[in-house]
Amino acid sequence: MASELKADPDALKFAAGDHHMLIGGDWVHAASGKTFDTPNPATGETLATVPAGNSEDIDRAVKTARAAFETGPWSRMTPSERGRAIHKIGDLILEHGDELATLESLDNGKPYAIARAADVPLAADLFHYMSGWCTRSQGESIVPSVPYMPGAEFHAYSLKEPVGVVGQIIPWNFPLLMAAWKLGPALAAGCTVILKPAEQTPLSALRLGEIILEAGIPEGVVNVVTGFGEDAGAPLAAHDDVDKIAFTGSTEVGKLIVQAASGNLKKVSLELGGKSPNIVYADAEMETAIPGAASAIFFNHGQCCAAGSRLFAEKSVFDDVAQGVADAAKKIRVGPGLDPSTEMGPLVSHDQMSRVCRYLDEGARDGATALAGGNRHGEEGFFVEPTVLTDTTNDMSVVREEIFGPVVTVIPFDSAETIRQPANDSEFGLAAGIWTKDLSKAHRTARQLRAGTVWINCYNVFDAALPFGGYKQSGWGREMGHEAMALYTETKAVCAQL
Ligand code: ADP
Repeated sequence: MASELKADPDALKFAAGDHHMLIGGDWVHAASGKTFDTPNPATGETLATVPAGNSEDIDRAVKTARAAFETGPWSRMTPSERGRAIHKIGDLILEHGDELATLESLDNGKPYAIARAADVPLAADLFHYMSGWCTRSQGESIVPSVPYMPGAEFHAYSLKEPVGVVGQIIPWNFPLLMAAWKLGPALAAGCTVILKPAEQTPLSALRLGEIILEAGIPEGVVNVVTGFGEDAGAPLAAHDDVDKIAFTGSTEVGKLIVQAASGNLKKVSLELGGKSPNIVYADAEMETAIPGAASAIFFNHGQCCAAGSRLFAEKSVFDDVAQGVADAAKKIRVGPGLDPSTEMGPLVSHDQMSRVCRYLDEGARDGATALAGGNRHGEEGFFVEPTVLTDTTNDMSVVREEIFGPVVTVIPFDSAETIRQPANDSEFGLAAGIWTKDLSKAHRTARQLRAGTVWINCYNVFDAALPFGGYKQSGWGREMGHEAMALYTETKAVCAQL
């Protein structure tokens, strides 16, 4: 029996209201008049109906963003004025935290408590942190000595300038937080933006659009166009008047983005998939390593690009680790995100549930053993059981491919001397975990891993100051930290002869 659902009334009102896209400060229908439904993943019923944008809407948004970039008040604001407005976005996110967390839970399915404790404050933090870079993004002075102009003196310096009009396409796993990761540095650099949220989870981005206007970001600086990937995302990636495209999503679509961007050679940054190794050494503190390994995969229902989905356990502790994570999986309370007792909600969509179940079927067919889970959970909504697989081999799809669901494969390994090869044997390189009491071994292993983030005796620790991004096919560039500013700035060298 579900306990009482917790639903913020403002969020319910917002979800049930009429939805429009944000273009140039106006809330508008799609040019085609078309809409699409976004379902509540806990029930499968329609949650909201939003405009289905296409290339015409993207074109309109790009023109508005271009005008705001070239001539609008945004380009005349001082860095500190810009910083104050961006900081205010963070303040307003905190002020409306209950509402935003509820919207996130309704639209994505994640537990309200998690959205309230993680997604919302992390999104606010990101804007607060990035607001500080407005006044700190500076060039340097340089003294050139030019061999073919003997005796000539120069004064030279570099300027950091916004890259221009930016398209940003985000996924559905952390809808508000991904919008923040993208918008924060772009705004701090002085860019203007067309944001395309995922079709599965458009609501928090639309509410964020209202917040952004309330914070004093001028009209046209942030435009939010809702719609499907092929209809709205693809024309944004291909648009000739967009200077940069930033994408988070599947590696498959990331490759399409690169192709689409090649027409005008716009700058591209990508945060793509992962199949991250999480390594438990025999000398790890098992009281933290086992729940840590469970949380590394089951946090956000495994719908994290950094999920610790390949769990490597040193042979002497393999049974304890595999059984411990399986026991933890069996104890997870699966239910609707708004039920306060829920620890894991539904997957985001019927498609995603089917995809994960397909992998579970393939794993079973290939000979993997399910120590926990292995099936869809219940008949209503898009729930899947937290699943722990053993007896896998490295050629199985459950080991090689990103499942993006609550499914972990536990794999034995011999020692610190042999872990490098299997841990790096993946086309991805986003994140990794290491659990051991031997800190020298931990740091030595960290150096061996081809991954953009390595967590030691912890997992899924994110901070606005920590750069995040991938090696190999996990992406291009780093979001967050000061490195994020580089994604949204051009460097100009100015050289004067004295
Ligand atoms: P997932 O497979 O996890 O749903 P996707 O990579 O398909 O992730 O989607 C991430 C984002 O990319 C979403 O906003 C989606 O609408 C968008 N998208 C999907 N296909 C394309 C495409 N061909 N061009 C541009 N954006 C796309």
